[in-house]
Amino acid sequence: MNELNNLFATSKALLKKYFGYDSFRTGQEEIIKHILNGEDCLGIMPTGAGKSICYQIPAMTFDGVTIVVSPLISLMKDQVDSLNDVGIPATYINSSLSEFEYMQAIENASRGMYKIIYVAPERLINENFFNLLKVLNISMFAIDEAHCVSQWGHDFRPSYKEIANVILNLKNRPIVTAFTATATELVKEDIINSLHLSNPFIITTGFDRKNLYFAVNTVDNKKEFILDYIKQNPTQSGIIYCATRKNVENVYDFLENNGILVSKYHGGMTEKNRTQSQNDFVYDKTLVMVATNAFGMGIDKSNIRFVIHFNMPKDLESYYQEAGRSGRDGDEAKCILLFSRADIVTNRVLIEQGNPEINHSTEYKKLNDIVDYCNTDKCLRKYILEYFGEIPLFDKCNNCSNCNSEIELTNITVDAQKILSCIKRMHERFGVALVCDVLKGAKSAKIKNMHFDKLSTYGVMKDYSKDTIKEIISFLISENYITSYR
Ligand code: ADP
Repeated sequence: MNELNNLFATSKALLKKYFGYDSFRTGQEEIIKHILNGEDCLGIMPTGAGKSICYQIPAMTFDGVTIVVSPLISLMKDQVDSLNDVGIPATYINSSLSEFEYMQAIENASRGMYKIIYVAPERLINENFFNLLKVLNISMFAIDEAHCVSQWGHDFRPSYKEIANVILNLKNRPIVTAFTATATELVKEDIINSLHLSNPFIITTGFDRKNLYFAVNTVDNKKEFILDYIKQNPTQSGIIYCATRKNVENVYDFLENNGILVSKYHGGMTEKNRTQSQNDFVYDKTLVMVATNAFGMGIDKSNIRFVIHFNMPKDLESYYQEAGRSGRDGDEAKCILLFSRADIVTNRVLIEQGNPEINHSTEYKKLNDIVDYCNTDKCLRKYILEYFGEIPLFDKCNNCSNCNSEIELTNITVDAQKILSCIKRMHERFGVALVCDVLKGAKSAKIKNMHFDKLSTYGVMKDYSKDTIKEIISFLISENYITSYR
């Protein structure tokens, strides 16, 4: 026990010496203590919580080397550069190295010159590299972005599945630690099983990011909304996430034509242009980044003041991770989701275009959950935290667009009765669009053929716009009065 206390005291000194921080954050201290005690660990902590330090500091106190598996090449370089800057011997091994650099790194590694080596998961199955691993004195394997091992996560990478096997074939089994910001039960179970974590210490730190303001806005003109927002906050750095490359180009052109200092990033650009764009944004040459979800993982920019979603993402995991890139410095930041019903359709198409071999029910369920998030009138923060399995100790956070809404509550009991009775009379067999048409009293062949124009509820909401009727139906779905099955 004493020895453990000594090791931990050393850790605190290292935190100050190398990183300049006086104290560990929530979660870091526990994880580090358990790692130092030789235990496997699973750390589930939101973006910005400080997961890297959880394995970097123990790595410094161990005799041998720590292998960090990380999916992103740009992240590795940044991390290794900053470790080297403060005097921690580290390197990375991935496809960006030249043959010479690779051989040099291997040579140095085999002479025990590094405390930390970052590797891309694809490397692990390379025989040459595996032979190196076999001669190294490996104290710990740290797996970053561990949700990539799970098909239930939002970023499945098949090569992550090989990690357990590689570890199994090492001379001595090192401590295995895994880190992620994805907290659903399925993903958690999958990480533990797929990585063969042995009786791991598991910590889920609170997911609440108190400094983030959450909003869902339904606006007529999304581009104008964004332009206004940027003009009103002319010194703030922010990200605009779009669902498609085309949207990125479109929003980017619009902002640039309006004189905004803006960068763009998506998978269709050359690597050189993407790197340039990313650097411009990270080093504050541009204020705004318009990007697809290809941008952001591993970007260490702490002063992002807003993240606006031009389109609704496919699930809340993606949303919370992307929105969570704001406010990492702890200062206030805004996360705004611009919701339109068209985004539901886009996401459904994307799901249907996915692998036809697999059942898409989980994806549909997740999509419904984020649509409910966009439609609820309750506290958005509470909704998110409950989604991730927390039991919030509040009903209203007073820091989201629903809690702070000045919109008067309207009584929709009578409207709800009309809708529910119409659904009943249509024998609960039809979707939102047709129910809406019947309530509106539309004159279509389908309605005539099915004799829905004879129902007493036909046209009872003819004075409402279709959008309003759909909005009320969506609200009833989000509040679980009705369910829509596919
Ligand atoms: P994550 O991987 O969880 O998203 P990072 O490891 O990138 O988060 O850390 C986010 C930021 O928090 C970094 O700028 C890091 O230097 C800072 N940080 C980490 N631990 C501490 C600490 N104990 N005190 C102050 N800042 C910290």
